[in-house]
Amino acid sequence: MKLLEVKGLKASVEGIPILKGVDLEIDAGEVHAIMGLNGSGKSTLSKVLAGHPSYQVTGGEVLFNGQDLFQLAPEERARAGLFLAFQYPVEVPGVSNSAFLRLAYNTIQTSRGKDELDPLEFDDLVQERIKVVEMDPAFLDRSVNEGFSGGEKKRNEILQMALLDPKLAILDETDSGLDIDALRIVANGVNSLRSEHNAIVMVTHYQRLLNYIVPDFVHVMDAGRIVKTGDKTLALELEERGYDWLRAVA
Ligand code: ADP
Ligand code: MG
Ligand code: MG
Repeated sequence: MKLLEVKGLKASVEGIPILKGVDLEIDAGEVHAIMGLNGSGKSTLSKVLAGHPSYQVTGGEVLFNGQDLFQLAPEERARAGLFLAFQYPVEVPGVSNSAFLRLAYNTIQTSRGKDELDPLEFDDLVQERIKVVEMDPAFLDRSVNEGFSGGEKKRNEILQMALLDPKLAILDETDSGLDIDALRIVANGVNSLRSEHNAIVMVTHYQRLLNYIVPDFVHVMDAGRIVKTGDKTLALELEERGYDWLRAVA
């Protein structure tokens, strides 16, 4: 059984079809990169997998560990071991980041039959994991994401991932604001999570990122489909040749 099986997935937003039959299979131990031009549907795929309410699934299916993903509410997806940055609120005024992270952590732990950590125990854990993202511990006392810069939000997202230890992490690197520092943080986080038991999907159009994280598979999306799959050399080929040679004939 695959960790993730996406079969003929179709989805619309406001009645407009965006995903037009996405097929993708992911096994534990693999890192996949999804690349493609702006507007090709990469973020839509991430959001549909996250269960974002604005997107309607209109066809196909997605199995996560053999389970129908669309039968699970977003928080149930997280408990089942799927990590998607979108699941988490952007800003939560009045809730400290450490309280928020501990709640997320304990929710997952108890669903795995493990004991919750009290604030002191959690603090020990978070102080250790925070080193991966080179984040100032002062950020733990701030409100969740409130006034965080793009780079700080990125660090926080990777810290969440490092704490939750997901089976499958889907990281959508949005089109802007990933400076070289943020690239390095994402790379360190992904590389530290990488194991035989986990898989990671990097949605990116930054070939540079793949110099730090060497993917096992590279997929190219165009017009709502995966139009090409290859190994890490495909990313280099895209860097050299661009995307035109792969575009679907209109
Ligand atoms: P990518 O992440 O590859 O740049 P997106 O998934 O963000 O692509 O977008 C794919 C297409 O879907 C684009 O044409 C975009 O304009 C459209 N789209 C995505 N989200 C929405 C939305 N909420 N409302 C209308 N159109 C959308
Ligand atoms: Mg885009
Ligand atoms: Mg996008």
